[in-house]
Amino acid sequence: MARDGLGEYRSKRDLARSGEPGGGAPGELPRFVVQRHDASTVHFDFRLEVGDVLKSWAVPKGPSTDPRQKRLATPTEDHPLDYASFEGTIPEGYGAGTVVVWDTGSYRNLTEHRGKPVEMADALERGHVKVLLEGSKLTGAFALTRTPMRGREEWLLVKVDDEGADRRRNPARTQPESVLSGRTNADLAAERENGR
Ligand code: MN
Repeated sequence: MARDGLGEYRSKRDLARSGEPGGGAPGELPRFVVQRHDASTVHFDFRLEVGDVLKSWAVPKGPSTDPRQKRLATPTEDHPLDYASFEGTIPEGYGAGTVVVWDTGSYRNLTEHRGKPVEMADALERGHVKVLLEGSKLTGAFALTRTPMRGREEWLLVKVDDEGADRRRNPARTQPESVLSGRTNADLAAERENGR
């Protein structure tokens, strides 16, 4: 992933107008966040805290709890750490629309290569990470693997078959609301419409 640092993030936005975060400091445990973003299309932004940024992918269909489902994950620019708790309306410009924190929590890096642990930055460089998510909707291990596709850099997000796997659940569809506020993208849009 060549999109290192926050230069691209800042160049795409006027933060004074968009109301989005610009910084943040690492906590005790690294965090993950999945944001449901209703912009020009509805998608889920999957982000992992790595060093001082959130490594990010756009997942059109959202994460699945079914290990048989491979979900396309397109890398996007690094985001600031404070983005992990951001929800609200982006009034104009890049990504204009509503964002809710669909799931969040801490994660652990389980990536190994030939039986030895691999640090997140190296794992991303190599194109494969395995992370254990401790979220509300998503629990257990997920694998993200780079895959050559249509001449672009695409990744696949797949649930590892463990205790957090469930072939019947479909939380991306049945649980659209924020884990922080209980609100949906539609709620946020309506609040803005009503001037609240
Ligand atoms: Mn997005």
